[in-house]
Amino acid sequence: MEHPENNEAYKGLVVNAGIEQPSSVNPYLKRKVKKRQLSVNEFVEGIVKGDVTILSQAVTLVESVRPEHQATAQEVIERCLPYSGNSIRVGISGVPGAGKSTSIDVFGLHVLEKGGKLAVLAIDPSSERSKGSILGDKTRMEQLSVHPKSFIRPSPSAGSLGGVARKTRETIILCEAAGFDKIFVETVGVGQSETAVHSMVDFFLLIQLAGTGDELQGIKRGIMEMADGIVINKADGNNIDKAKLAAAQFRNALHLFPAPDSGWTPRVLTYSGFYNLGVKEIWDMVYEYIDFVKGNGYFEYRRNEQSKYWMYESINEQLRDSFYHNAKIESMLQEKEQQVLKGNLTSFVAAKSLLDTYFEDLK
Ligand code: GDP
Repeated sequence: MEHPENNEAYKGLVVNAGIEQPSSVNPYLKRKVKKRQLSVNEFVEGIVKGDVTILSQAVTLVESVRPEHQATAQEVIERCLPYSGNSIRVGISGVPGAGKSTSIDVFGLHVLEKGGKLAVLAIDPSSERSKGSILGDKTRMEQLSVHPKSFIRPSPSAGSLGGVARKTRETIILCEAAGFDKIFVETVGVGQSETAVHSMVDFFLLIQLAGTGDELQGIKRGIMEMADGIVINKADGNNIDKAKLAAAQFRNALHLFPAPDSGWTPRVLTYSGFYNLGVKEIWDMVYEYIDFVKGNGYFEYRRNEQSKYWMYESINEQLRDSFYHNAKIESMLQEKEQQVLKGNLTSFVAAKSLLDTYFEDLK
């Protein structure tokens, strides 16, 4: 008898034709393609059309420290300039806890009721993106952050105040070109940054709180003098009388200051951002101010003065940057400094030789 394994059916190594296996690469996974940077034309067209994604990308470019980004950013800004300027720019300042986020949220919704678009920017020279406390952080303005007509941008990350402020000012231009007709610039009310904000807005609003004792304690005179309006927040519940008292004290204090160049007498109001009380009055005041200064020519004047100020600021900053980042200067600086410290060289001669080297190198 034939051995059964000699049968065809017994061949143990027969391989059946399998079914086709799916690819081990997830076909839905998008390949990470490095995004091509838009051209200057594409940026400008996108911004002028009001494309917020492109606006965001342009702002990122403005904030970048890379020279090639800066070069593109400057071209974009220049091309956007003719479309800018048509907005109301309001600076909003107050110490941490004064209620800026809460207030900006309701202020924003209030001004948007009349239509238009609002950009909320910030100046906080101490901020770093990686840390939590960023002015302009979307999560702090719950309603505004999901509003289709708002654009919220945190402060450019830490750097010199001048640098941070310049970037914010350039961002204002881009936002205006994108059709944002209301701009808020927020800052922490604790120092130099107010001056920077003041130099780029039409109306400077100072948020204050009613304290317990001397209301005016700790408020820098210079900051109060810059204010076109002081608003006492948290005038609600048991706090209403205290807030009114504080307002009276601020009014008295304001009388002691010289009259502002605008011809406008700064006002003091009380409100509650949390309960949305007295918010309309604040914005009636801001709009009244804008009408007033547009009428007497101060609006134009102040914007021109600001442009002039920023021109000189930019010159100073760029000259300084170019000088200190020059390779020859970098290599000589320490040595010259030592010579000055040892008394081998006068400061003036050291400075002159460094500057001569710099200018020679530029040729
Ligand atoms: P910011 O640090 O200036 O941005 O202040 P926030 O907006 O974060 O507010 C600080 C705290 O004050 C929060 O707990 C708010 O809920 C509270 N707050 C803000 N506005 C008001 C207000 O009008 N009334 C009361 N009672 N509390 C408020």
